[in-house]
Amino acid sequence: MRSKTKDYHSLNAILMCMLALLMLNCQSKNGKDVGEPGNVDFIKGVYGNPGALLDAGYNFEELGMNAVFVRSISLNFDFYKTAREQKCKIFVEFPTLNGKNYLQNHPEAWPIDEKGEQSPPADWFMGICPTDPDFKEFRINQLKEILNSYQVDGIFLDYFHWHAQFETNNPILPETCFCNRCITTFSESKDIEIPEGDTPSRANWILSHSDTAWRDWRSSVLTNWARDMKTIIQDLQPDALMGIFYCSWYPGDHEAALYRSLGIDIHAIASEADVLAPMLFHKMKDRQPAWVGEYIHWLAEYLSKSENAKPLIWPIVQSHNNPANVSPEEFKEVMREGMKAPASGIMMFSDQSLLENPEKLEVMREIYQH
Ligand SMILES: [Zn+2]
Repeated sequence: MRSKTKDYHSLNAILMCMLALLMLNCQSKNGKDVGEPGNVDFIKGVYGNPGALLDAGYNFEELGMNAVFVRSISLNFDFYKTAREQKCKIFVEFPTLNGKNYLQNHPEAWPIDEKGEQSPPADWFMGICPTDPDFKEFRINQLKEILNSYQVDGIFLDYFHWHAQFETNNPILPETCFCNRCITTFSESKDIEIPEGDTPSRANWILSHSDTAWRDWRSSVLTNWARDMKTIIQDLQPDALMGIFYCSWYPGDHEAALYRSLGIDIHAIASEADVLAPMLFHKMKDRQPAWVGEYIHWLAEYLSKSENAKPLIWPIVQSHNNPANVSPEEFKEVMREGMKAPASGIMMFSDQSLLENPEKLEVMREIYQH
């Protein structure tokens, strides 16, 4: 009897230890605390292939970082382990609707323009028709593979827009997609009968008779993508956040191209995302550094008009020298602007620009360490 009691106590102690270890493990791995404003560390991250900083001999913790935003293609087990050891939260960038490589073997997913032709690449970007079911399945499987392989703090959807190029002050904004599937799906979804004819005549009819419904439908296609991705993330890792990178045009810029061409309704994506990451690339958009803070202020105001839950705001700012040099002073300014309330996190683009200019690395270290 006595020995049994002793055994019971020993077993109990072992179980308590295991439970404590498990809880410790969960605390260090899940991102739950990140999603509660007011109860969080300000997120200080680097976007791209942060492993390049490790290869160059730097240490994330010593640089003041507490997060990495790593491209899916740069994610590997060694990097993951080191980032965890160096106290970083791990957010994975997920390229959603870009697909130059995919199109090589799946031309049926090519977005079709109003002339009925394959829309040409928009500079370096090549989008995919977002109603292509095989492509969506392909991306869903990729997302599941990441989530089944790594315990992450979040997934950030990138290239989340209809085919276009916006990372320039002279955007490329084709009208897409008028493939048979998109036209049919639009027609059924909106209960609009489109006269028979070839693709150019049907596209022309849609643009001249149902423009409002067409833009609304295109936006809903993206929102459905966000909802489906969120469901998968929640099923596999309920504590992981879903962020969305998106083009930081104001709604009226470029003749309302954010909504009309890219298909982005900020209120709609905000209702699905836990974090919005406006891409505040001041140099690419030919803006002054102060615009970074102005945009964040504007976004918070804009979101306050929605009755939906408000996502966190974690902007991404530019250090990358494109289309002109970003000086260390300018980088410092956009970092300071990007960290203004109500932003609760920031990331900079990119690791490579820091390695090319040690002064910028010092700017980031100085800001992140304080
Ligand atoms: Zn299509």
